[in-house]
Amino acid sequence: MKRSRMICLFLCVLLLTGCTGTVLPDSKAGADEPGEVTFFAMDTVMQLTLYGDKTLLDDAQQQVGALERRLSVTEEGSEICAVNQTGSAVLSAETAKLLTQALELCRRTDGALDLSIYPVVRAWGFTTGEYGVPDEDVLRGLLSCVDYTEIQFDGMSGQLTLAPGMEIDLGSVAKGYTGDRLIDLFGQGGASSALINLGGNVQALGSKPDGSPWRIAVQDPFGEGYAGVLDVIGQAVITSGGYERYFEEDGQIYWHIIDPDTGCPARSGLVSVTIVGNSGLLCDALSTALFVMGYEDAVEFWRGCDDFEMILIREDGRIAWTEGLEGSFAPSDAFSGKTEVIRRD
Ligand code: ADP
Ligand code: MG
Repeated sequence: MKRSRMICLFLCVLLLTGCTGTVLPDSKAGADEPGEVTFFAMDTVMQLTLYGDKTLLDDAQQQVGALERRLSVTEEGSEICAVNQTGSAVLSAETAKLLTQALELCRRTDGALDLSIYPVVRAWGFTTGEYGVPDEDVLRGLLSCVDYTEIQFDGMSGQLTLAPGMEIDLGSVAKGYTGDRLIDLFGQGGASSALINLGGNVQALGSKPDGSPWRIAVQDPFGEGYAGVLDVIGQAVITSGGYERYFEEDGQIYWHIIDPDTGCPARSGLVSVTIVGNSGLLCDALSTALFVMGYEDAVEFWRGCDDFEMILIREDGRIAWTEGLEGSFAPSDAFSGKTEVIRRD
């Protein structure tokens, strides 16, 4: 009899901001007091901390709900569910904008990110909760329909057509995109200081009110503590980790990041990938894609780019970060002697 176990760790990144607990928005609070709200959406816990007009927190929560209703792969009536059921649809401008950018990231990562992986993700039980290792023949059949280049999409009209048997999922990028929208909302609403944590996807607007950086702890994938602390101002810090969502069967762990070449959980030698950059969408997509690629390919990929930095943790316990984070990332003592800085040449 199969024994499956599922552990979902909501917060893969701990926030060292000095603000803990849930504080409901309080419009009477002074401008220098943060408003905080914590809620459950997109299958995870979301925490928003804002210095400024506290009513923006309500707007933000509504915006997350609206995006979830559009983008969810499991919620009946979402645009993604509709296209998966019928094979074609005309997307709203918002969903079309996200899909355009996400498909560009599939191309840029040469298919390590593949939005059409969904039937395989479902077969492993990651969206249904019925976890288990799929039959090899079943996997082979499902994989034959996985190929993002077969997604026909016209970004201008929003017309999307999927190949027969194909279904898509924006789960790898939706929270990063949502974070970008919330940061825009807060900025346009006149705030200059905010921190959002969408289930471990952390994004900052500006610095702390006193001008100092936000201090963000990257979770230690091997234990309860953290692997290091990163200082950021106005950036996204997004981690994909094998420990975030997984099940265990016959002593083997199977996690939710799938290698589109094999249809199986990516065993690339990496256990955690943190991407730091200006765009939440980019960081979210790359955290998943570089996890699939593995250390060597991720480093080569980074050397060809100038729009993100990264922290990689390997299954042998080594931690490496790119040179752009020198001075802002400090590994914890648990990793002493196992650290490395990745340079351009
Ligand atoms: P999380 O959503 O837990 O923060 P990720 O951003 O890494 O983690 O996204 C993982 C989700 O993306 C999975 O739950 C699955 O739905 C989907 N997914 C898994 N592997 C891939 C892949 N190679 N390409 C695109 N989407 C993927
Ligand atoms: Mg991701």
